[in-house]
Amino acid sequence: MDKIYLTPGPSQLYPTVKDHITTALSESVLSISHRSAAFQDIYASTEKNLRQLLSIPDDYYLVFLSSATEAMERIIQSGVDKHSHHLVNGAFSKRFYSIAQELGKNPGKTVVDWGQGFDLAQVKPIEGVELIAITHNETSTGVALPLEQIYKLRSTFPDSLLAVDIVSSAPCVNLDFSQVDAAFFSVQKGFGLPAGLGVLAINQRCLDKAEKLRADGKSIGSYHSLPALLEKAARKQNPETPNVLGIYLLGEVCADMIDKGIDIIRRETVQKADLLYDTIEEHPDLRNFAADDVRSKTVVVAETKTDSAEYIQALSQKGFIIGSGYGKYKTIQIRVANFPSHAVDAVEQLADYLTDM
Ligand SMILES: *Cc1c(COP(=O)(O)O)cnc(C)c1O
Repeated sequence: MDKIYLTPGPSQLYPTVKDHITTALSESVLSISHRSAAFQDIYASTEKNLRQLLSIPDDYYLVFLSSATEAMERIIQSGVDKHSHHLVNGAFSKRFYSIAQELGKNPGKTVVDWGQGFDLAQVKPIEGVELIAITHNETSTGVALPLEQIYKLRSTFPDSLLAVDIVSSAPCVNLDFSQVDAAFFSVQKGFGLPAGLGVLAINQRCLDKAEKLRADGKSIGSYHSLPALLEKAARKQNPETPNVLGIYLLGEVCADMIDKGIDIIRRETVQKADLLYDTIEEHPDLRNFAADDVRSKTVVVAETKTDSAEYIQALSQKGFIIGSGYGKYKTIQIRVANFPSHAVDAVEQLADYLTDM
């Protein structure tokens, strides 16, 4: 029996990935030089497709990294001398904060309980804060912040850089990139690809800040500093030998998503999420975890009355692999990913099984 992975990352591969891997093998994508014209063409095509799919403005730079966690480190390293401020409501937003700490910055934070969103009136960074970091979709809790809140942060703190983690909401989230300075994701979640590739979009303000820090004698990293990355990106290359297969597959899957239509993908995402939330709502032994107004469309989290392993095991026997709760919620929650690779009929089947449990 083929298993369907509804885990929040890595997750089910996008249905066309297998064919694209076969093509990559037969066309020697895995052996070409990362300085060759053949690779530059792949790079350019992936970049073009990504920009089209996500409506990334032309004046934003795109760079390829090894993961989303790396993107957090690059953003702090290149964007902050002394102070960043973090909105923390789960494990991934906390990671962003601790990276700033580990890099020797002096980050501030606004913390709310897991499962909650933010009241922006409570967000009070210190005067002159250089960067505000926010996680659009907290994969650990199933909380997605309203985009209006992110845009509001921008207008409230116009002098700070605004960096947004869209790892588990891209490509379903319709983010207006022009309202943020940096946004990033990795590909093993909503893009349905093998792990090992991160994408970071930044604007000129981020680059200017990095160059100012460097001119002031601060370290902004080495081979993956923003200026080093952008110098190579201008020639459709990376400073190092990058994940060539990952970049190739991302371009192909973006093209497939463009063919299907991003509006259709987003509409299906909402339809599947509604079904999952209704199923949980009506189940006597399950309860939706995220607060009503901040429920994620792409990661659905439910509290279970009994050990969540019972649900995970029973569904696994039916071929549906779902996630456990995160960290301290491991045994009392389930997490179900709802990405473009998850077909409507598969989610309907899962909802039926859940109802019968
Ligand atoms: C998975 C995830 C990350 C980390 O992604 P990596 O590719 O493993 O570095 C960061 N933020 C969020 C919201 C995530 O879901």
